[in-house]
Amino acid sequence: MGHTFDTDTAVGHCPFMPVFGPPALMLERGDGTEVFATDGTRYLDFLAGISVVSLGHSHPVVADAIADQARKLVHVSNFFANPVATAAAMSIDGLLTDATGRAGQVFFTNSGAEANECALKLARKHAGPGRHKVVTALGSFHGRTLATLAATGQPAKHEPFAPMPDGFIHVPWGDLDAIEAAVDETVGAVFLESIQGEGGVNPAPDGYLEGVREICTRKGALMMIDEVQTGFARTGEWFGFEHSGVSPDVVTLAKAMGNGMPIGACWAPVGVAAAFVPGDHGSTYSGTALATAAVEAVISEMKRLDACSLARAGESKIRAMLDGADGVTGVRGNGLLLGVALEEGIIAGDVAAEALANGLIVNAVNAATIRIAPPLTVSDGEIEEAMGILLSAIATVKAAP
Ligand SMILES: *Cc1c(COP(=O)(O)O)cnc(C)c1O
Repeated sequence: MGHTFDTDTAVGHCPFMPVFGPPALMLERGDGTEVFATDGTRYLDFLAGISVVSLGHSHPVVADAIADQARKLVHVSNFFANPVATAAAMSIDGLLTDATGRAGQVFFTNSGAEANECALKLARKHAGPGRHKVVTALGSFHGRTLATLAATGQPAKHEPFAPMPDGFIHVPWGDLDAIEAAVDETVGAVFLESIQGEGGVNPAPDGYLEGVREICTRKGALMMIDEVQTGFARTGEWFGFEHSGVSPDVVTLAKAMGNGMPIGACWAPVGVAAAFVPGDHGSTYSGTALATAAVEAVISEMKRLDACSLARAGESKIRAMLDGADGVTGVRGNGLLLGVALEEGIIAGDVAAEALANGLIVNAVNAATIRIAPPLTVSDGEIEEAMGILLSAIATVKAAP
């Protein structure tokens, strides 16, 4: 009863559960913006593992931090502290104190969904009985666990798993009147992304987050921001909410935080975090030394490189190449989280497949939008090469009968 899966061709009896569809490629090595398939073919990775490897693949500083820590101490239980997790928590709190003006506290998780689970439990605990509901936006994405799936404003994703955990109200994205109407005395929090990533790269409209902040403050609900995709300099600021200048009450993080090491965090100002008492929440792997060593390396390297300015420079370069290009009707987003809107009739999935066949990884985030999210360390030459491939892929799909 052996498996017949061929790891070179990815053909045969697949050992993975069929939740992801057939893999497009078998990748075995990465270096900066480049990844290499088992047959040696090189690809430019303008998806970066979905906004995860923001410092590029196999970054030497992160690799050394992980390797050194693996030889020193990988994990102790949460009965004990370790210096690495403590330093990483202080670094994250430092960034968020700068961004919000408030000193806070961190809970480490292994993923974005778990960071959001922590936020949702914190919202309930903070609000107390009778005020357990959370308002989220249609088109949002908050994760795949049952509660974060329920928070996700995509009803089609709920249907196969009904009944959903209750307590979520979904309102149209960008609509302040809908938030005003939804937040009543049963609502403890409003939970939004600063740019909807999976929903199609939809930035918060001007004034939206500021308006949500005002409503939440007036009605006594927490304003919680999911920065899992937008955090860590991706949008040209350390956190996406900084573009609107608001100070949220809870912030969740993951993806780029470990440059591929699985780790996330939920942050809240001290007064909000104080709703939790020992025993309210936990996780065996919370703040493991190995994963937090990667976080420290990521943050110090991003500071050294001024990753925010890299994201902004990359954005200008990409916009200059795509603005007004044939087949492109617009570019949405901030920094290096961009959605390329395609002319009607040009199917994004076809463009992504054509680009892949020519050595470029991008993602069709919806039927009419290509998502671009390269490492923030991407070079000008790589941007030129990639945009050349993308534009010819768009032209090829447009010309196809
Ligand atoms: C990816 C993502 C999540 C889920 O993160 P996982 O690590 O896959 O659990 C949650 N929220 C947003 C905005 C995301 O982009």
